Amino acid sequence: MSNNLVKQITVLSGKGGTGKTTFTAALAQMSASTSILADCDVDAPNLHLLLNPENISSEEFRSGKIAIRDAEKCINCGKCLDVCRFNAISSTFDINTLDCEGCGACAWICPTKAITMDLQSSGTIYVANTRFSPFIHARLNIGAENSGKLVSAVVNRANDRAIELGKGLVIVDGSPGIGCPVIAALTNAYLAIIVVEPTSTAIHDMKRVIELVQFFKLKVAVIINKVDISEEQRKRIVDYCIESDIPIVGEFPYNMHFYKAMVQKETILEHKNLNLSETMDKVWIKIKEILDRSEIMST
Ligand code: SF4
Ligand code: SF4
Repeated sequence: MSNNLVKQITVLSGKGGTGKTTFTAALAQMSASTSILADCDVDAPNLHLLLNPENISSEEFRSGKIAIRDAEKCINCGKCLDVCRFNAISSTFDINTLDCEGCGACAWICPTKAITMDLQSSGTIYVANTRFSPFIHARLNIGAENSGKLVSAVVNRANDRAIELGKGLVIVDGSPGIGCPVIAALTNAYLAIIVVEPTSTAIHDMKRVIELVQFFKLKVAVIINKVDISEEQRKRIVDYCIESDIPIVGEFPYNMHFYKAMVQKETILEHKNLNLSETMDKVWIKIKEILDRSEIMST
């Protein structure tokens, strides 16, 4: 899924709240001169809160067709209302775009061609600058679906931008879970980093994400966050990773300053109460070893 010019790291987690965005931002800082960042958690984006981006351009994202009725051509025959299975057409034959599933039956049956199918605006993609790297992020419109398509568009823009600017790395903050937006965030990925906490449910969710990543034959590594909350569950993660030949590139104890850093819009490297530069250096070296294993990344 990756190309030879740009290596993409997608940071994922089985569930929300594990510190995925925290580590994405730290990796962004570590790779600042060589990377492009992308926030692909379009349903609940929050990397921008940390990065405070300055948008330099925006583009409407259109996908998924909906029915549009031209009232002047309509002869009020009611055929569209009869045929719509999604209750998207009112008794006065107005179309509720939020309910329209885009099946096209009404356009097909309309005797006067008053209904056409058109792409709908489902979000906006932004190109921005941050204190670290250029940043591609997006907003999904309220009620809009197709977040997977929007995520794919964000990933593709980020990779195009990396090639344009001669950057060797794209760092993607993915969505939690294993749904369509997660699969889309793996488009072009070379390495997936899974952030996990040592709890039973988080381990279960981590395994599902790893199975997904391995289905696409991508490299995978793990970061364990809040590692000290359960030694027993930590051991389960370590044993699983050893058995599955998955490198653990970092382990971080619980620290309330992770949260405070986020609130103060700082990375964990910038926050004055955290002293993590040496630890993150080691994480970054391990990640670069994985990235460099088969091909040399341009820096
Ligand atoms: S089928 Fe066409 S003409 Fe008939 S009510 Fe619907 S939009 Fe109007
Ligand atoms: S496209 Fe399908 S769902 Fe949408 S209004 Fe027409 S019949 Fe209903």
